[in-house]
Amino acid sequence: MAIENGLSVDVEDWFQVGAFERVIDRDDWPRLESRVERNTDAVLALFAEAGVSATFFTLGWVAERCPALMRRIVAAGHEVASHGVDHQRVFTMTAEQFRADLRRARAALEDASGTKVLGYRAPSFSIDTRTPWAHAVLAEEGYAYSSSVAPVRHDHYGWPEAPRFAFRPVADSDLIELPVTTARVGGRNLATGGGFFRLLPSAFTDWAVRQVNAQARPAIFYFHPWEIDPGQPRVPNAPLKSKLRHYSRLSAMADKLRKLAMRHRWGRIDAIAAREAARLG
Ligand SMILES: [Zn+2]
Repeated sequence: MAIENGLSVDVEDWFQVGAFERVIDRDDWPRLESRVERNTDAVLALFAEAGVSATFFTLGWVAERCPALMRRIVAAGHEVASHGVDHQRVFTMTAEQFRADLRRARAALEDASGTKVLGYRAPSFSIDTRTPWAHAVLAEEGYAYSSSVAPVRHDHYGWPEAPRFAFRPVADSDLIELPVTTARVGGRNLATGGGFFRLLPSAFTDWAVRQVNAQARPAIFYFHPWEIDPGQPRVPNAPLKSKLRHYSRLSAMADKLRKLAMRHRWGRIDAIAAREAARLG
């Protein structure tokens, strides 16, 4: 039987991405056209068609505004987990601000979804060497797992020296960290999810999943609802590099995802975390 891999969606709106942080003010968010609900519904339809379950790492901001969406995610058999309140990156916070952010997001997500939140993904994989306290705070707050580390070198994020597979980041705690999947090429770790999946040929992601599975490990894959939305408003004053990354190949994404969903075995991250915890002992 093929290995079950972790499928995840970081539920945030088109204007909440890290790349636009400097050109779109948080205060303007309520005035912008929200497309996250219909885009996430489209993701739910795609997953139903492919017959896969997944984890939806959702902003507290979205849960507060779209509670019915949270219940539809749960009703379809998926997991609701936390992506923080409003996409503040962890390395911009103090440990106590991080704790407050975790609590506020969790309350919003649990209220809206009616389920217990066990997992966390840091906005823009912002747990790295700058935040040595972050996993300890997650453990103290009772999280079972985190999927917040990208063991890559990238201009916006990354912790290249971090383990590539599940590990226990805090001594005397059961907390599991499940880093996002990287491909090992020529002694370097290459990123595979999100924009990389959208921009690179799908054969690369397929190969990366098979490479990880050949080592008897689950792949951890992620993308965003805005990535399947070619009709989203354009941000004219964003840096060119951000625009190139954000808007490229949006129209091909849904089809690419459908094929990826059908080519490998996928499941919720809480299930993967429990299996990895049992393996680590
Ligand atoms: Zn995000």
